[in-house]
Order: sequence, then C-alpha cells, then structure tokens
Amino acid sequence: MRPTWAEIDLGALQHNFMLVKELVGVGVSILSVVKADGYGHGAVEVSKALVEAGTDMLGVATVEEAMELRDYGIDLPIMLLGGMRPEEAELAVQNNMVPCLFSIDVARALDKAASSSGCKAIYHLKIDTGMTRLGVRPEELTDFLGGLSELKNIRMDGVLTHLASAFTESTDYTEAQLSGFLQHLGTVRAHGHDPRYTHSASSISIKRFPHSHMDLVRPGIILYTEGESDSLELRPVMKLKSRIIQLRRVPAGTPVSYGGTFVTARPSVIATLPIGYADGYLRKLSNRALVSLHGKTSPVTGAVCMDLTMVDVTDVPAARVGDEVTLFGDSLVSVEQVAAWADTISYEILSITGKRVQRIYL
Ligand SMILES: *Cc1c(COP(=O)(O)O)cnc(C)c1O
Repeated sequence: MRPTWAEIDLGALQHNFMLVKELVGVGVSILSVVKADGYGHGAVEVSKALVEAGTDMLGVATVEEAMELRDYGIDLPIMLLGGMRPEEAELAVQNNMVPCLFSIDVARALDKAASSSGCKAIYHLKIDTGMTRLGVRPEELTDFLGGLSELKNIRMDGVLTHLASAFTESTDYTEAQLSGFLQHLGTVRAHGHDPRYTHSASSISIKRFPHSHMDLVRPGIILYTEGESDSLELRPVMKLKSRIIQLRRVPAGTPVSYGGTFVTARPSVIATLPIGYADGYLRKLSNRALVSLHGKTSPVTGAVCMDLTMVDVTDVPAARVGDEVTLFGDSLVSVEQVAAWADTISYEILSITGKRVQRIYL
C-alpha cells in the first residue's frame, strides 16, 4: 500500500455529534449531513457511527449517495438535500428517501410513484429566502402550494430554507431570511399543511443563531472538524498522513520541483512525500503550506506535483526515510490552516481528499 492515508477518528465524530446534540437540546432533531462521501471521510463508515450516536436522519446530495447508504443497510430516513429528478421518484419512494421539493414536476412524479406503490410519500418543501440556489421563490409560493393541493399521495413532513450569510459579521441578512421564513411558514400552514419539521440551521447557524434551530438542525462541517475560534470543544476527525520516501542533502542554490520556484538558500535536507494534488493536496499549497513531523513544522518547498510533494526538513535532523508526516489534522497543522494557505475553506480541503488516499478508521 502506498504510504499516504487518512486516519478517520470515528470517536471524534461521535464526540462532535454529542456536542451538537447538547447545544441544540432535547426536542430538536438532528439531520447529520454526509453528502460528498461524508465530506471526504467515507459516507458509509461515518453514517454508521452517526446512527450509533443517535442521529435522527441523514442528509445527502444525490439519489446515488442515498443508495450507497441503503446498499450498506442503513435504514434511517435519508434527505435528498439537492432534491431529485422526476425519473428518480420511484427509486426514492421505494428506498424511503425524503426529497427537498421545489419543483412541481418532481412533486407530480413523487405523487405518481407513491400512488403506484400504495403509500404516502413524504417530502420537505424548500423555500428560497435569499440563497438564490434551490427552493421555491416567495413570490411563487402561493401558486406552488395550489399545485401541491391536487396531489393526494404525498405529504409535507417539513419545510426548510438555507441561510446564505450566517458566517458574516453582520447578522442582518440572516435575520431577514429567518423572519421571511417564518412568514412563509404562515402561508404554508394557511394552505392546510402541518409540517412536523421546520428547519434552517447548518453548522455555523447552529453555533451562532439559536433561534434558527426550530425543530431540526442540519450539521455538516461541525461534525468533522474543530473550526477556527470555537467555544465548542470539537475534535478534528481526519488526519491526512504520508511517509517520507526519499531524503536528499543538497547544497545552497538548488532548485526544487517544476520550474524551480523554490531555491535552497542554505545547504538543505529535502524530503519527498508520496502525496500530490491528485490526492487533494492542492497545488495552491506550493511554497505556502507547512506539514508536521517529529513535533515540528516543515515548509512545503517548490511546486506540489500530481503525486509527490517536497518539504524542507533541514531543521528536523531526526527525519528519516519512512517517517510519518501529518499534512493536517494534528495540533500543529489544522485543516483550517491548510484551507487558509490554499485560499479556500476546510469543506473543500476535506471533500477533495482523493480516491487514492486510503481511509483508515479508528
Ligand atoms: C451541505 C448542507 C448543509 C450542511 O452545511 P454545513 O455548513 O456543512 O453544516 C446543511 N443544509 C444543506 C441544505 C446543505 O446543502
């Protein structure tokens, strides 16, 4: 096996889940988001651990992602956060998937599929209160509800919206979305629906906006990583690791990697790691990131290649071929830090962890 792997601490995942549960309190259900292969951690293993910890539902982006969980015997309700296409309705009904609904064509397909399997299918109505991504626009809501009223084999079990700017300093936009949402809920109820769940909160609003919790919360990233300036004692779940496969001593003035964008300023020891951008270790990290080894940090030198990355270990005299290196996930280098070096967010760094990187579950 190539010595590049991701250690996934399922105990840390369950710990983070319990912190969320404590934070939202009894009476608020939890839909744990495991889309994009569980944010890169492996959807099946992550889902099993979350089921064990007591999650009420799981959330994925696509019908394929939901089927992967069903194939492994996970039988909790699974929400399709990205909605679905009409031709997927039958599969969704047969496999107890709960779509977010925002298209009348999909509603009709769901109704038909439910009718032919002799059951009542449930869905959550998605309202777009300002994200401008998915959902029924407020000005279309009344017509949409009129269309739904003709469909007798489906039932609205929930209503949701998604907050666009819950992380910004100003809370105005979020408050406007939330108050709009409450108003639209009134409209929905006035049309005779009695949704069991109303929900709006993903990770950041779980922490920042207690009044966004309503009946159900949708934590994603908060389950997987510690975050930046948290009062919560979240633990990182993934540690990305590799081992030195070659070490070389080079004189001052030696260029490293494609284009020689790094040139040694002193006699140096350069270590080569078998991980590259095809593993999700972004090229943007060239000459920017640090890695952790022997309790110290060492800089990435030169361009990150497709399969290989070089680091300067001159100041770590103990470094040897075969030594373990942590690219993120320990106390010296967090995934948030790597994300900052790559001008992105931890979501992206975690979810692009490549297929070649073996996941090892603790
Ligand atoms: C991905 C997603 C979430 C989870 O978001 P986090 O910021 O990771 O907590 C919640 N709700 C919806 C609709 C999503 O698509």
